[in-house]
Amino acid sequence: AKEAGRNNFQFFVPEMNVRARERLMLENALRRAIERDELSLHYQPQLRADDGRLTGCEALVRWLHPEMGAVMPAQFIPVAEDSGLIVPLGEWVLRQACRQQAAWARAGLGGLMVAVNISALQFRRADFTGAVTRILAETGADPAWIELEITESALMQPSTELHERLVALGRMGLTLALDDFGTGYSSLAYLKRLPISRLKIDRSFVKDLPGDQEDAAVASATLSLGRDLGLEVVAEGVEQPEQFAWLQARGCAKMQGYLFARPMPADEFARWAAAHDPA
Ligand code: C2E
Ligand code: CA
Ligand code: CA
Ligand code: CA
Repeated sequence: AKEAGRNNFQFFVPEMNVRARERLMLENALRRAIERDELSLHYQPQLRADDGRLTGCEALVRWLHPEMGAVMPAQFIPVAEDSGLIVPLGEWVLRQACRQQAAWARAGLGGLMVAVNISALQFRRADFTGAVTRILAETGADPAWIELEITESALMQPSTELHERLVALGRMGLTLALDDFGTGYSSLAYLKRLPISRLKIDRSFVKDLPGDQEDAAVASATLSLGRDLGLEVVAEGVEQPEQFAWLQARGCAKMQGYLFARPMPADEFARWAAAHDPA
């Protein structure tokens, strides 16, 4: 048994090395990307369900590597989280989104909420509130139009400190949303006390609506929870008119998805916004 174990081990090592080497390469490339301006943000519209008006957007990071081409967040966000690079990357994203909010406001495209994804690791750092304060001051963004999307999993072990951090961010005028709702297991008793104003139904519960019974149950439960707790519910990943109709009939306030628009670069978003919602 020992012999076999050793053989297995020897067989396994080169494979592990390849994967570890790939990760390290990606990590180094990502570190350079942050310095070399290879990252950019795309913005995906969010619309009000009842009248279809544009209310804001979600900022989503993109990486254009000179040789690898477009690298999607699903590939590099996990690497950034494992290596700690998510902290400088997350700050870059927040700064860029805040700059964009300020620029749109100056250009007369105000009144649009800009939602920014905050990684659990980023949110759990003691200096998070300080970083946000600095970035707001530096960019001149209006906190009333900045929303932080914090994943349900980031709030899984709710300490007094994290709770107070949310309260402080709310007092600064920021809007707080619970992202990927339904994928974690937050206690409902805790949810009631959280100073958040929105819940985002994860795309995994939207994509098989209205046919899938379990997904329909989760989405329905989230919508009634939102109603009971006075939280606005946003559905992401809406692709089909049937999904839109189903969600709208159950009181979902806002929607985001390919049915309306894909994430797009800032200038394209501004044109889309002007054409969609002529003021
Ligand atoms: P997320 O926060 O759940 O973002 C929604 C994802 O769904 C985005 O993928 C968006 O492009 C995609 N999406 C929106 N509508 C549809 C649709 O109708 N159909 C389909 N198939 N997809 C749709 P994306 O941009 O690839 O980002 C994936 C994930 O990476 C995000 O999921 C988020 O967890 C993470 N991420 C993206 N940008 C950032 C960032 O700046 N910071 C952090 N910490 N995470 C980010
Ligand atoms: Ca999000
Ligand atoms: Ca999601
Ligand atoms: Ca299912």
